[in-house]
Amino acid sequence: MSEIPKAYEPGKIERKWYNFWLEQGYFTPKIDPAKKPFVIIMPPPNVTGELHLGHALTDTLEDVMVRWHRMKGEPTLWLPGTDHAGIATQVVVEHQLARQGLTKNDIGRAKFSQMAWEWAKESRENINYQHQMLGASCDWTRDCFTLDEGPSKAVRTVFVHLYDKGLIYQGERIINWCPRCQTALSDLEVDHKDIMGHLYYMRYPLAEEEGFITVATTRPETFFGDIAVAVNPEDNRYKALVGKSVILPVINKKIPIIADEAVDPSFGTGALKITPAHDPTDFEVAGRHNLPMVNIMNPDATMNEKTGPYAGLERFACRDKVVADLRDKGLLEKIEPYMHSVGHCNRCQTMIEPKVSLQWFVHTKPLAEAAIKAAKDGRISIIPQRFTKVYFDWMENIRDWCISRQLWWGHRIPVWYCQSCGKLTVSVNEPLTCRHCGSNQITQDTDVLDTWFSSALWTHSTLGWPEDTEDLHYFYPTSVMETGYDILFFWVARMIMLGLEDTGQIPFHTVYLHGLIRDENSEKMSKLRGNVINPIEAINEYGIDALRFALTTGGCPGNDISLGKGKLEAGRNFVNKLWNASRFILHTIDTEALKGPALETTEVGKPQCIEDRWIHSQLNRLINNVGKLMESFQFGEAEQQIYEFTWSKFCDWYIEIAKIRLKSDGATPSPLPYLVNTLGKVLCLLHPFMPFITEELWQRLKQRLPNKSQMPTSIMIAPYPIADSESTDPEAERTMDAVIEIIRSIRNARAQHKVKPNRWIEARVYTDELLSYIALQAKFIQTLARAHPLLILNRIERKAEKEKALVLVLKEVEVVLPWAGMVDPLAEKERLIKQREVTQARIAQLNARLRNDAFITKAPTHIIEKEKGKLHTLEDKLERLESELSQLD
Ligand SMILES: [Zn+2]
Ligand SMILES: [Zn+2]
Repeated sequence: MSEIPKAYEPGKIERKWYNFWLEQGYFTPKIDPAKKPFVIIMPPPNVTGELHLGHALTDTLEDVMVRWHRMKGEPTLWLPGTDHAGIATQVVVEHQLARQGLTKNDIGRAKFSQMAWEWAKESRENINYQHQMLGASCDWTRDCFTLDEGPSKAVRTVFVHLYDKGLIYQGERIINWCPRCQTALSDLEVDHKDIMGHLYYMRYPLAEEEGFITVATTRPETFFGDIAVAVNPEDNRYKALVGKSVILPVINKKIPIIADEAVDPSFGTGALKITPAHDPTDFEVAGRHNLPMVNIMNPDATMNEKTGPYAGLERFACRDKVVADLRDKGLLEKIEPYMHSVGHCNRCQTMIEPKVSLQWFVHTKPLAEAAIKAAKDGRISIIPQRFTKVYFDWMENIRDWCISRQLWWGHRIPVWYCQSCGKLTVSVNEPLTCRHCGSNQITQDTDVLDTWFSSALWTHSTLGWPEDTEDLHYFYPTSVMETGYDILFFWVARMIMLGLEDTGQIPFHTVYLHGLIRDENSEKMSKLRGNVINPIEAINEYGIDALRFALTTGGCPGNDISLGKGKLEAGRNFVNKLWNASRFILHTIDTEALKGPALETTEVGKPQCIEDRWIHSQLNRLINNVGKLMESFQFGEAEQQIYEFTWSKFCDWYIEIAKIRLKSDGATPSPLPYLVNTLGKVLCLLHPFMPFITEELWQRLKQRLPNKSQMPTSIMIAPYPIADSESTDPEAERTMDAVIEIIRSIRNARAQHKVKPNRWIEARVYTDELLSYIALQAKFIQTLARAHPLLILNRIERKAEKEKALVLVLKEVEVVLPWAGMVDPLAEKERLIKQREVTQARIAQLNARLRNDAFITKAPTHIIEKEKGKLHTLEDKLERLESELSQLD
């Protein structure tokens, strides 16, 4: 048999086993119509993404589910992929170009796209390798990229379908515009920050009479785009002015004063400037009054020709100049500080410019209704359940989804404009001519679709939709969508809407949401705080299994997770504990085989010894609990229970007891079958959580078993343990609970009274009903508690203790530890005398110091007081030492 290394070195076996699994093709499921498959489509990480702990958590949780279902014998598919990440990738490539002093316009769309593809290819390989490092058992033969031909065709098909149905439309709307990325952003892509700005009170001269009307605004530079001043119709201050006009300063443009109920009379002066092209509320007001829109900015947020002498100025420079010029003309009444919420691009943090523009939208209301219904009638359930309400709230108030992006990297919008007749051709395949007039003078829309549009189709586009494929038939609807709660709306909600619309079926039965990862003090991890843990570094230092353990043990769905060095170390300690326990068992199989008949079978019959009955009962209880917990998605708790059983019951108790039995010659049946059986089951239970060490140990165990030729080739495809309800053994559990309690409390008493580890102490155990069972365990109590002589007696024999003794009152027994047995009087006396000497010496030292004049005159009072305090404590200690010594005489 191959020698088992003393220390476990994860780096030496991880890649070996991953490659073995890959070569064996275990990650690719066999389609079996007789069986219901288990399917997870991996949330595709952004191709720009470096692997961070969030990915590690996603990978671990999904791998746990997938490995578990695979071991249960279900055809299991975990489909991996990557997202092209529109803006993020475009920003990366633009940075590459900028380093060469180029912009994307210098090289053109085709060359730009080629660069992005090259970069994405490399990055995808890197990301896939990182998944492998984490042990992800996903089916690489089905690996997908959002820009692949299949998913791209799905995107165009959905666009055309929704357009034909009237659910996609083009419209002028106020959108969030990022002047740096130069694209529209959806509401979800905007971060709102509270900013201390100013409220500027500007005077607009009245056209028909003397005087002004004063408006308050945070963005004075937009006044070139004003098309009216609005007041509340009930506002008596302005009633007489409604219907009249004002003259915009500088550009001398006449605009009307209108009344609109949306105006809040208590804000500013109660009169609002209306700038419909640059403000969402004003856009609506203008719509109600049929007023025109004036766009005053270029895409890069510089002022355009509508601003006369200000044209070309950057927006904030323009603001300063407008304010200065109005002040010179006496048209600036005052400036007040003002705290308000301002949108920022969540990619580049540039301040958003609300701007009217022609964009493509999805009319989401009808889609949302179906998606709400699917969750209401229970076809889709969300874990944890509290997110269901959040989902309903958002879905019920959903706004139309702006899907066009002014980028070059992504799915091009499948719309062609005709230069001859002006009509649109919307088509899945590239048309040669206009569908309406047959002209070949057609050009495609230059925009691309929001990245989330293709992600929303991910559950079915990856399985071949719109083609009617075998994969789609068999694997759709999928089983679980596992992802962070932070993208419930971005992604999960949209997948439900479009999955239902495209296939008529829900995309998945269960949404499992995990929390965010924080540091050990529950602080958010960020580069600024310097508390980020790099998963690759963690793997190099602790091993993959330890990282997976740290990420998932004890976790609850939807709750944030704290992760620090302590947890990683705990993971590594557990791995080492398992390694050492297994090493002992494997070694025992080898040595027992030399002694006599080898281990004949791993099947354990009905156990005879109490301790065998106990571990067998406990193991089955664990298997039963783990099964139930896994079914209800409580993976963290399941892992916690496996951990506790393995560490404490199995390693600390059963194996220690087994060692004693193995040392005595054949008096009891060998514990080996139970050691082997329990280890085998524990490895299987743990495999989904810690795939590498369990495979390594399982293979070493298998080598040594008589039935190895009938065993699976890998633990990955071994059956997941099923509980045997017959094994529950309350009698054995009660006895061993008592035995463990006895040993533990004697050990505690020894520690408390500083009894030397190798010293034997006398102990008497009194009990009644359990007497005969506990008596059978006397040898173990004796060895493990180092208690000798040990008497196990009936309670009726108990008399009042004559000598000094420690009495431990436990659940079902009393333990009496005679004082004389615990403490060696001579040694104790020696110890106390030594302590007395040390104490006396220190007292003398302090006294000398306090009698020293130089010290008393120079030292500050609080130092002197402190020294006096010390003296007092020492004198008190001396007194107690004397009294203890006198008791020993
Ligand atoms: Zn931006
Ligand atoms: Zn035409």
